[in-house]
Amino acid sequence: MLESIFIFGDLPLNAEKGTYQIQLVVLSYVIASFASYAALSMAQQLVNAKSAIERGLLHWAGAFALGAGIWAMHFVGMLSYKMNMMVEYDPAMTILSMLIAIAVAYGVLSIVARNQLYTKEIISGGILLGLGICSMHYTGMAAMKMDGIIRYIPSLFALSVLIAILSAIAALEIAFALARHGGRYRYLYQLGAAFVLGAGICGMHYTGMLGAVFVPDANCRYDPNQDFDKLALSVAGITLLILSLPLAAGIYRKAQMEYQLQSSESKLRAMMDNALDAVIAMDQDGKITEWNRRAEAIFGWSHSEVVGRRLSEIIIPPEFRSLHEEGLRSFLKDGIGPILNNRIEVSALHRAGAIFPVELSVSAYQLQNEHHFTAFLRNISERKESERQLLHYTKALERSNQELDEFAYIASHDLKEPLRGIQNHASFLLEDYQEKLDEDGVKRLNRLIFLTQRMERLISDLLHFSRLGRADLAIQKTDTNVMIDEIHQLLESFLKEKNAQIRIPNPLPEIICDRPRVTELFRNLITNAVKYNDKEEKIVEIGFIAHMDAPHGSEKNVFYVKDNGIGIKTEFFEEIFRIFKRLNTRAEDKEAGTGVGLTFVKKIVERHKGRIWVESTMGEGSVFYFTLESGASS
Ligand code: ADP
Repeated sequence: MLESIFIFGDLPLNAEKGTYQIQLVVLSYVIASFASYAALSMAQQLVNAKSAIERGLLHWAGAFALGAGIWAMHFVGMLSYKMNMMVEYDPAMTILSMLIAIAVAYGVLSIVARNQLYTKEIISGGILLGLGICSMHYTGMAAMKMDGIIRYIPSLFALSVLIAILSAIAALEIAFALARHGGRYRYLYQLGAAFVLGAGICGMHYTGMLGAVFVPDANCRYDPNQDFDKLALSVAGITLLILSLPLAAGIYRKAQMEYQLQSSESKLRAMMDNALDAVIAMDQDGKITEWNRRAEAIFGWSHSEVVGRRLSEIIIPPEFRSLHEEGLRSFLKDGIGPILNNRIEVSALHRAGAIFPVELSVSAYQLQNEHHFTAFLRNISERKESERQLLHYTKALERSNQELDEFAYIASHDLKEPLRGIQNHASFLLEDYQEKLDEDGVKRLNRLIFLTQRMERLISDLLHFSRLGRADLAIQKTDTNVMIDEIHQLLESFLKEKNAQIRIPNPLPEIICDRPRVTELFRNLITNAVKYNDKEEKIVEIGFIAHMDAPHGSEKNVFYVKDNGIGIKTEFFEEIFRIFKRLNTRAEDKEAGTGVGLTFVKKIVERHKGRIWVESTMGEGSVFYFTLESGASS
């Protein structure tokens, strides 16, 4: 049985010694390497394929490239061998050998196109590919028809199989080193792998041929005109053409990807250049890598002038440079970056040397094991200037307020004395000259005394008001329930006389405040609630709300004093707090207030950094709401 394949012992004397046509041998190596290169590049694309259809197409295209390439190499290699025998090729066997090559290539690609390849898979893939190349070769040999027989020298036959397997393993190993490392040397790896696999395929073929012994029959035909060069060249030409197609497709795909990358890069650039903030990127060496248009406008440097230069030298004022460098070093060492992901205000340097304030936020990220930083900056010179002016005006306003308080204090204090004099003189006049004056004279004197008394009250109120603005608050813990109780006792007879009652639906909190002032505040509101009330039964409700929606926004810890009185028209909601402002003026009424109660109330609330506002319905009653900054402490 083995004798029908192998030849043992000495070779027969009539064994044919063929010769190789060297150009075709070289061509066969070119085909093998080219096919290997095409197959490897498709295996790479296969790994990165995005859809099942793309995967399937690439898989078959790769299998066809490698299979057809190996087969074409073999066929051209066969045709390069010239013997003194007439040779024909059996078409069925020839096609079968090609199909075997394609099937084997398909199997190899399915092993190879996995994301992770371990040594085990590389070896098994290599053995499969090696054996596949051998099966194709020996099937191809079996397609030869001539007047003689083919036998193989066992040692060379075994060597050809070994070469095929080893070179296939080596090629796969190199190809997957390329997949792991990628990067710049990717194409060199791929070319190296293609040459190794090409050499392996040829090595196998020509070792196999060396081991092939052609023994012609006695009546062996010989055709001196037999010439396969044209056939060899057309097989080679067609194969190379077929192989170029997937390669061209690969190149097109790459160009398309580059175009997509470029267009997304230009989108990003457009976004950056249209940003209202300066966007600056820096690498871990502290060098500028990005600099958008706004950065150019803010700092006076153009993109091309600064990219690659140290950021600290460009925009950081000299006195802060070492701090910046130190911060960068410590971030790279320990990962601590206190300024990262915060919005902070720092000083920046313009190209012309001016130092100006900027708002800065920096974020860091890692890309391919390197740290990168992106900073967003905006010039806040104008904002800072208006803040400074605002502060200046506030201070000036505070000063003038204080001066006004002092003026009111001094004026009212000094006015009191002459007023007392007028009052005394009027009283003396009335006492000493009552008989000598007629009725009208007495009436006028009484009116004079009434007016001076009223003026005295106004001046006292003014004095009190200025004191409220000047004196420091005496803050203490105060139980509001106790405070209201005391006010209740104080006003008892007044409330009784007016048929009024105070209701507290829920216990009130303990607060931190200037107790005498807040007592005055409540007393004023309670008195008003009774005074401006035409109901038979006057009800004053005092309460506390933890959260509420006020007309100006939401408020916490709100006190209220509510009555069922006459109500206040909306247009007077603000005006009633003005000093000496009264809505129900009855000048003759001795009971009438001076229109300062609510002014005091407002001043006391403001001194406690609170707010006061009013809600009211005419004829139904009013509610005065207020907060005190210290609010409820329990
Ligand atoms: P006075 O009570 O001395 O007139 P206020 O400053 O306390 O001064 O009040 C100013 C004006 O606001 C009052 O004259 C009155 O018309 C109005 N007012 C105050 N509280 C109430 C209230 N609870 N209901 C209706 N009107 C009020």
